[in-house]
Amino acid sequence: MARDYYGLLGLSSGASDSEIKRAYRKLARELHPDVNPDEAAQARFKEISVAYEVLSDPEKRRIVDLGGDPMESAAGGAGAGGFSGFGGLGDVFEAFFGGGAASRGPTGRVRPGSDSLLRMRLDLEECATGVTKQVTVDTAVLCDLCQGKGTHGNSTPVSCDTCGGRGEIQTVQRSLLGQVMTSRPCPVCGGVGEVIPDPCNRCAGDGRVRARRDISVKIPAGVGDGMRVRLAAQGEVGPGGGPAGDLYVEVHEKPHDVFVRDGDDLHCTISVPMVDAALGTTVTVEAIIDGPIEITVGAGTQPGSVTTLRGHGMPHLRSGVRGNLHAHIDVVVPSRLDHEDVELLRAFKERTNGTAEVRTAHSNNSSHGGGLFNRLRETFTGR
Ligand SMILES: [Zn+2]
Ligand SMILES: [Zn+2]
Repeated sequence: MARDYYGLLGLSSGASDSEIKRAYRKLARELHPDVNPDEAAQARFKEISVAYEVLSDPEKRRIVDLGGDPMESAAGGAGAGGFSGFGGLGDVFEAFFGGGAASRGPTGRVRPGSDSLLRMRLDLEECATGVTKQVTVDTAVLCDLCQGKGTHGNSTPVSCDTCGGRGEIQTVQRSLLGQVMTSRPCPVCGGVGEVIPDPCNRCAGDGRVRARRDISVKIPAGVGDGMRVRLAAQGEVGPGGGPAGDLYVEVHEKPHDVFVRDGDDLHCTISVPMVDAALGTTVTVEAIIDGPIEITVGAGTQPGSVTTLRGHGMPHLRSGVRGNLHAHIDVVVPSRLDHEDVELLRAFKERTNGTAEVRTAHSNNSSHGGGLFNRLRETFTGR
């Protein structure tokens, strides 16, 4: 005869899901073995737990509503067990504590490896052209003795006795606030749910070993300080021989003697003697990729003026389009003059009749150097 599962919870057929949950929770609080050690109460607790397990499962509840007993058929008619064990314990705890306590289950032995980070110092030239470098990394590699299985010879892992293969241990404790359920990873199997009784001699069951690996790292042209180059699956092999993580190579650009980088543009400073700035000259610069290039310093070049050489900067990382090279002109005034120099400069002064003057704060008078904006404009217009 089919059991009256509704009656066990003090309900009549057709009770709603929330009524079932509420009724079970109320009874479980009175009858839980941690609260009520009485044997009759424990038997009753098992009964109401089975009733709840049945009625909270739509499929089993349908059988009950049709006048059948799902637990009879679950036992296969053999009469043994019947009760689908306390495998449904997660559900019981969920009803008891209002969710959140459901079992997370074992974590599995094979897990992905972690990513690794490597720092690499590069010259500006190497950043500009790209470079391939050999590096040695300390990493975890697959154990070649067990091929990641972690077992010795033909032995196999077995289910963990301590946690029953669930990977975690749940305990209910009484506290001032009532009952508190805690769940922690099983200390014996480490949450895996199984243990290796006869581990591999080389990796002690981890499936991987520490090793040094030589890796060839290709750095693309145009990288900059702080950029990371990703090498897929070149990181650490995971526990149990799990898939390797990625290796990231972080670029650190060494300061350059001549050039200062600003994105894809480069800046340099050219010192021009006062007379050369006045008369005009050419200066040779050893450019990053293009080798020696001539920069023309026009007659009458002012201090702080900038000459831009288009397409002589860094290549853009993706497009390869070159940035610009900006040459900042620094006019050098001689600090030591001999008698003859002084005579020549006095004669020059008499011819030009120039005198020092206080300039108005907003003056754009370019004949006296002008603002940065004017100097840039002169550069572009070739004045
Ligand atoms: Zn365990
Ligand atoms: Zn091994």
